[in-house]
Amino acid sequence: MSVTAEKFQISEGGARFLASPRNMLIGNEWTAPASNRYFDVENPASGEVIAHVAEGAKEDIDGAVRAARRAFESGSWPRMSASERGRLLWKLADLLEDRAQEFAELETLDNGKPLTVSKAVDVPLAVDLFRYMAGWATKLEGSTIPVSVPYAQGAEFLAYTLREPVGVVGQIIPWNFPLLMAAWKLGPALASGCTVVLKPAEQTPLSALHLGELILQAGYPEGVVNIVPGFGETAGAALAAHPDVDKVAFTGSTEVGKLIVKAAGESNLKKVTLELGGKSPNIVFADADLKAAVPGAANAIFFNHGQCCCAGSRLYVHRSVFDQVIDGVAERAKQMSVGQGFDPQSEMGPLVSHDQLTCVCSYLEQGSREGARAIVGGKRIGDRGYFVEPTVLVDTQPGMKVVDEEIFGPVVTAMPFDDPDEIAAVANDTIYGLAAAVWTKDISMAHKLARRLKAGSVWINCYNVFDAALPFGGYKQSGWGREMGRAALDLYTEIKAVTIQL
Ligand code: NAP
Ligand code: MG
Repeated sequence: MSVTAEKFQISEGGARFLASPRNMLIGNEWTAPASNRYFDVENPASGEVIAHVAEGAKEDIDGAVRAARRAFESGSWPRMSASERGRLLWKLADLLEDRAQEFAELETLDNGKPLTVSKAVDVPLAVDLFRYMAGWATKLEGSTIPVSVPYAQGAEFLAYTLREPVGVVGQIIPWNFPLLMAAWKLGPALASGCTVVLKPAEQTPLSALHLGELILQAGYPEGVVNIVPGFGETAGAALAAHPDVDKVAFTGSTEVGKLIVKAAGESNLKKVTLELGGKSPNIVFADADLKAAVPGAANAIFFNHGQCCCAGSRLYVHRSVFDQVIDGVAERAKQMSVGQGFDPQSEMGPLVSHDQLTCVCSYLEQGSREGARAIVGGKRIGDRGYFVEPTVLVDTQPGMKVVDEEIFGPVVTAMPFDDPDEIAAVANDTIYGLAAAVWTKDISMAHKLARRLKAGSVWINCYNVFDAALPFGGYKQSGWGREMGRAALDLYTEIKAVTIQL
């Protein structure tokens, strides 16, 4: 494992985007922040500053919410047909697809992930999500409901439900999949007719702002999508506490999720959906096809450098195949090419920030103090950029911080198990419930176990399989509600029951 030399070239569109300070998108205008302050955005592969971005704060959030409210109540958006809304989402998907290369480059420059991954995963999934949601715009139907009304004998009624947009939605997103998280949030909100104020993560605001340019190009009416970059404690907190926001949709840490709930409760009891942290179990049975399970377990933790809410960070392997699986995952870790994202050889890039590097390294030190042993990896690579070795920890057990807490880095704790009947309880022994995986040839047992696992996604003989049609979200402290699929749209709509006496 070594960090490869830094070399990258970005296409003209991306270079133009980076050349001047980026403002906030409010009411379809690129607007300077009230404070006139801009913050630095850096390339985590080198620590170099690559852009200056408007530091939105409370006053700017107020302006953005006003624009979103106007658009929701009286602009052309509420009068637009569902079919036209769907067409605008499809148009956004087309524009994004046309500029896939430059979006992938910006994502890699800002977040650090390999360009091969930005191109193959982040951008195509975002495009697909917008297309999927475009189709839903015309299908958000109510129902007609037979009513009996026991105290109105003989009367006849017609009753039906309408599905209406929730209103102005505040959306706060993290840095691990910046463009994709923006798409997961914007897609269902726009399909259902809401208007939005989006706050991207301070580490990675670029792709969301660049998407703002496409939103203008697609012809969205004024104020439908507002994008206010800034810091969580100021811009994010103001959005969560805003009395004229009808819903806040948040993706990030469980700790901040609790602050969002508090702010929503203390302001106007706005609706809240949360996609939070995870510590997902990945379970390999003795009969598993190890040719698939070993690379699968490595991918489960090392994909996106472990900065995945659903990372398979607790690896449970039946004792009879434990050494074989762990050696295989460790071998894969040793062979991984870690380097800056523009190097086509790179399979893993840097962590997103110096803070994240410090956080992951402190978990590694704490793990070692508590008796965990790194059979591969375990430390930072070099002193430029925020690279960490892919790491496999053994001799770990519940009660250790590295086993109990989300590390959000390329670190897996591996533990053997003996009794297949007890593994569900062991896997569920966490405050989280985002994802889980099972590797076995006994498909009946796998289905039974899938029912017992308390997790929003269960993968069998695979990991990290995402689709715009599949709902994603958490049990327990991994969140409230679901992203993607039909389920996401329910959470951006209100149901109104209309009753007519005939
Ligand atoms: P984070 O610190 O919770 O930040 C997420 C977002 O919240 C950022 O935009 C952040 O702004 C903002 N924020 C911070 N403090 C806030 C406050 N007091 N009020 C309102 N907003 C605030 O999380 P992170 O470290 O960026 O992301 C990693 C976490 O996200 C992990 O726990 C991961 O599991 C979770 N995640 C979950 C999912 C899922 O779908 N379940 C997906 C991806 C990530 P700043 O940019 O200024 O910090
Ligand atoms: Mg960055």
